[in-house]
Amino acid sequence: MKLEGPSLYLAAEWLEPFIGKTILGVEGNTTIGKERLDGKTILDIFSWGKHLVFQFDDFALRVHFLLYGSFEAILKDQKITGDYQKKQVNPRLALIFEKGQIVFYSCSLKYFETSRSRILYDFSTDIMSSMWDSKKALNALKNHQEDEVADVLLDQTIFSGVGNIIKNEVLFLVKRKPTTFIKKMSNSFLQKIVKNAQQFSHQFYEWRKQFVLKKHYRIYRKSFCPLCGEKICRIKTGKRERISFFCPKCQK
Ligand SMILES: [Zn+2]
Repeated sequence: MKLEGPSLYLAAEWLEPFIGKTILGVEGNTTIGKERLDGKTILDIFSWGKHLVFQFDDFALRVHFLLYGSFEAILKDQKITGDYQKKQVNPRLALIFEKGQIVFYSCSLKYFETSRSRILYDFSTDIMSSMWDSKKALNALKNHQEDEVADVLLDQTIFSGVGNIIKNEVLFLVKRKPTTFIKKMSNSFLQKIVKNAQQFSHQFYEWRKQFVLKKHYRIYRKSFCPLCGEKICRIKTGKRERISFFCPKCQK
């Protein structure tokens, strides 16, 4: 499982039943000082990019899933996080409630000393937010003329929530190689990228919600191009050195 913005947005939805519930126990190998969570009531849960935030009375807990993080939640003996597979590792943090639990694996945890953590975040850069500002993203893209498009799509200050799956699928949709420099793209093409990144992220969310995401991948971790049958290239690209998948024939 890879957690990109749409998955976290969905996680916040799935976890809504825990809002108003009190933590009755904490476990896990985190060294953050988990004891302070004991007895606290969750007042709000929201996502921003690849962050998931739990608000308590006078502080908040931010969960950042990094590359391999995951989580699961059980409510009244039912797993509400669907097909997410439990990792064979010790939990970083487990929150125990009267009728369920939320367990986090391989993630980074941080406290914010605030009763209003939402105002710490700029939702205009969050690809899943109703406050997403496509003009702002377009202008930010233009400030990266010397960068490759695959790198810029992963820039969380521009496209908060876009991860490697979305990056590869969007570049396949717009038929451009991940190594194309921003300066080689017209204004209207950059607009097309911004639009597709947001639309695909929302589509990703719908598929994830129905547990059918993986079967809709067209290029990510695929071997052959679904359009022309060509062997798909799989190489690390750009300054970020993240794996890019692309069709050498269909993507210019
Ligand atoms: Zn192709």
